[in-house]
Amino acid sequence: MKIVIAHLYPDLLNLYGDRGNIQCMAMRSRWRGIEAEVKEYRLQDAVDFSGTDIILLGGGSDREQQIVCTRLQDIRKEMQAYVEDGGTVLAVCGGYQLLGHYYDTPDGRMRGLSLVDLYTEQGDPRLISNVVLQSEELPYEIVGFENHGGRTYIGENRPFGHVVHGYGNNGTDGREGVLYKNVIGTYLHGPLLPKNPHVCDRVLQHALERKYGISELAPLDDTQEREANRYIVNRFHAG
Ligand code: GLN
Repeated sequence: MKIVIAHLYPDLLNLYGDRGNIQCMAMRSRWRGIEAEVKEYRLQDAVDFSGTDIILLGGGSDREQQIVCTRLQDIRKEMQAYVEDGGTVLAVCGGYQLLGHYYDTPDGRMRGLSLVDLYTEQGDPRLISNVVLQSEELPYEIVGFENHGGRTYIGENRPFGHVVHGYGNNGTDGREGVLYKNVIGTYLHGPLLPKNPHVCDRVLQHALERKYGISELAPLDDTQEREANRYIVNRFHAG
């Protein structure tokens, strides 16, 4: 068995080491005897998602996002076909914003991919915090870090999690991120998956189910990861 992970524009969208998410997915696959191949796409590369199982779109500053968003319009149709066919996507912060219709800033509107019905408007101040989320689908809390000027509104879509600590999508509605088909969009940066092995396995399981019909992953020993996760939950959410 093998999974193919496409990393879109790692040279531009890699704030706070979003790349660590790739390493986590690859290692948790290999520990289970599943081969993992990572394809890095640069801005000028032609994309072909036909053999792709997971796409990672990381975060970036407004300047980098602007560069990427122009290029994304060229690959929009390929990405849309992939998503509608049940392809797995993890999009973080700037990448999450670009899943939607647009991101408005004082310098103008960045057009998004319109893969998910959401939009983002820049506000003041930046929303910077450690984050704890609860999810209806996952066995324990999701922890992470957010730093964004954008306020995202997901309408009727399901959120990735409910905010226990932090700001989330817009600091007002108590929701964080978005779930759409096998797409996860979230503001949680950097080592999201190493900090949350249950989220990593959810992503892997979606990809393996689509490709091989596998609905359960072999368990791994996550004792230390669970302890680290619990420590963060207790630190930011007393009680
Ligand atoms: N530039 C976007 C914002 O500030 C996303 C930033 C990020 O990816 N951290 O909202």
